[in-house]
Amino acid sequence: MRKLIITVAPTGSLTTKEQLPWIPITPREIADSALEANKAGAAVVHIHVRDPKTGKAIQDRELYKETIEYIRAESDMIICTTTGGGATSGVGPMGRLVSLELKPEIASLNCGSMNFGKAIFQNPPDLIETFATKMKEVGVKAELEAYEVGHIANVQEILNLLEPPLRFNFVMGVNGGIPATIENLLLMRDTVCKLYGPKSLWMVTAIGRFETPLCAHAILLGGDLRVGFEDNIYYSRGIKAKSNAQLVERMVRIAGDIGREIATAEEARKILHLK
Ligand code: ZN
Repeated sequence: MRKLIITVAPTGSLTTKEQLPWIPITPREIADSALEANKAGAAVVHIHVRDPKTGKAIQDRELYKETIEYIRAESDMIICTTTGGGATSGVGPMGRLVSLELKPEIASLNCGSMNFGKAIFQNPPDLIETFATKMKEVGVKAELEAYEVGHIANVQEILNLLEPPLRFNFVMGVNGGIPATIENLLLMRDTVCKLYGPKSLWMVTAIGRFETPLCAHAILLGGDLRVGFEDNIYYSRGIKAKSNAQLVERMVRIAGDIGREIATAEEARKILHLK
């Protein structure tokens, strides 16, 4: 089995200081947490930025720039920025693309609309196409975010804008998206294989207590995985994780016990066909 690509999502846009006092907020904090996770085995960092004053999600070019520069100064980590996280920050749809100017190697591309907790996460077909077109123009690989199985099918509409291998991220266990069960993970994986062929790549992001069991299955099935405070703040029942690195370390340990090696950033670039 090929090596495992671990992505860390250090902060996201929803976790608050009240929930987790040590959630990284400033560019320096986000970068430090990513770098620590990189040392633990994460090859990719999925970046959101926060307003340093309020801690709230924001889409701000300078904050992305600062965060990315800190990470690049001390590592060769693959940078993946969000184009979904600004959905709640009032920037409007095109404001979600602000990080693309900074040439991350990967950016998330949300492949459908859905209820998201109490909100509506709007990604209508024309917006998906516009985002995919922009990513192709600037040479950023799209990570295809699928929160349910229909989102995987939606990718057929933008296939001409994507470079192989396709890279899906199954985000499972969001209120409003597909429940995080093993059966559903297999369904998502099989749907990708049927529609886009077995060479397509996939990873799993599972929310809260589902993170560890679903990521362990991804390791066994030959997929990749994401962990971090964006998705889960607990290490075990009632006990909060000390750091993003701690969540990465557990995955490295499980993969090691199963006999699956971890990809470095350089090895991950080859697997993902990044230039
Ligand atoms: Zn995100």
